[in-house]
Amino acid sequence: MCGIVGYLGKREAGPIILDGLRRLEYRGYDSAGVAILNGGQFQTRKKKGKIDEGLALLIDENPLHGSIGLGHTRWATHGAPTDENSHPHFDQSERISVVHNGVIENYDRLKERFIKEGHRFKSATDTEVLAHLIGEHYRKLDQAKLNGTHPLTQAVINALKEVIGTYGIGVISLDHPGVIVGARRGSPLIVGVGEGENFLSSDTCAIVSHTRQVIYLNDYDVVTLTPEKFEVNSLKSNAAKVQVSKIEFAAEDSEKGDFPHYMLKEIFEQPRAVRNAMRGRIDTEELTGKFGGLNMTTAELRAIDKIVITACGTSWHAGLVGEYLFEELAHIPTEVEYASEFRYRNAPIEKNTLVLAITQSGETADTLAGLRESRRRGHPVLAICNVVGSTIAREATGGIYLHAGPEIGVASTKAFTSQVSVLTLFALLMGRIRMLPNTRAMKIIKALEHIPEQIESILAQNERIRQIAQKYSACEDFFFLGRQYNLPVA
Ligand code: GLU
Repeated sequence: MCGIVGYLGKREAGPIILDGLRRLEYRGYDSAGVAILNGGQFQTRKKKGKIDEGLALLIDENPLHGSIGLGHTRWATHGAPTDENSHPHFDQSERISVVHNGVIENYDRLKERFIKEGHRFKSATDTEVLAHLIGEHYRKLDQAKLNGTHPLTQAVINALKEVIGTYGIGVISLDHPGVIVGARRGSPLIVGVGEGENFLSSDTCAIVSHTRQVIYLNDYDVVTLTPEKFEVNSLKSNAAKVQVSKIEFAAEDSEKGDFPHYMLKEIFEQPRAVRNAMRGRIDTEELTGKFGGLNMTTAELRAIDKIVITACGTSWHAGLVGEYLFEELAHIPTEVEYASEFRYRNAPIEKNTLVLAITQSGETADTLAGLRESRRRGHPVLAICNVVGSTIAREATGGIYLHAGPEIGVASTKAFTSQVSVLTLFALLMGRIRMLPNTRAMKIIKALEHIPEQIESILAQNERIRQIAQKYSACEDFFFLGRQYNLPVA
């Protein structure tokens, strides 16, 4: 699932969208495209490969003009990474343009139906089928039944009712040159609220340099944007919950600065990240951890007699450390489950079990599915997560934010150390409402307080560590060559 950026307002949409797509590059992609609406037609540029080696050159040769448009970075699921399969895609009349993250599972049956009706497809994607479906519903709209809903929005709603699968989408139409419609199910989508302009994106990083006011859409939400307004409907009920939140970080936080890559930058951000994760969360009088957003009383926390931690990847490894901490400091039996297994296997979860979901992004699909299943069964689920307003943060009973700032590097670094810091404080809290003596708690708090400066002192030895690593890798080569040539290298 890749990236979406949409803009409508008074400025030129092209540079804003291209800049947004570049900020999403870290997520990985195989092709990129843009469609800008101007003078009753779409100007479309799509290209396989890196933005700077493909799409950006196309736009340089043939610049785009207009103040409403959609851009996309694609990670192919249906159809090879080619120029034709890149988004945006169009409906049969070529009057509606769609970008899409996710997978339309019933696209083949819909496609068969449309082919029988004489539609022609230009790509092998599931997304183009969705564009045709929206076009068909738009064509067949019963104007009398609109009840104030925008016609493009109604067509999107009607189409999505026929769709099985996951999506974050952006839709524009030549018939409505001042409107973007967005919708989501299982793939994140955010509205950026500006002044006289609005944005649509799959990731806050793409729009934070323009606005920090955002609406995190929920599954089944359908949003209608004009430059001045936004309106959210829900496919499930008419009353969608809308809350404007503030992005915690600034645009510079998601830039690499002088570092050669994001991972190195984030490694060096660890002292600050760990400080932020612990700030205000140590109660030095009661010698315990304290958290504002758990939404559970001390009595409820006291009643927990088992913890199941569910997570993926590096967060799962943080969970393994958590298991030791809860068992050691609070004597609570703890299990760590891979979220991709946990969501499918019908694990018996005993009464009084707390489920702890750990995730950096707050959007990890398997962790989210495990959370929903646990909540459905009536268990409290706390989330330890970095992205404020993310789906998991919103759907959990309560939780703990890391406040580590955006983590762009795919290999998690500062989010991991922040997760472990927060887990330690939470285990301390769980221990202190049970049997952990204050002398032991005091020692743990003292040790925790020193961690940021200890990380700083390790990072200050960076040059020395690099020299040792280089020497070691030279040794590795030496052993490797030795084995190749049968030399005595011991
Ligand atoms: N399923 C769509 C495609 O293959 C979207 C993939 C994506 O999320 O980028 O084009």
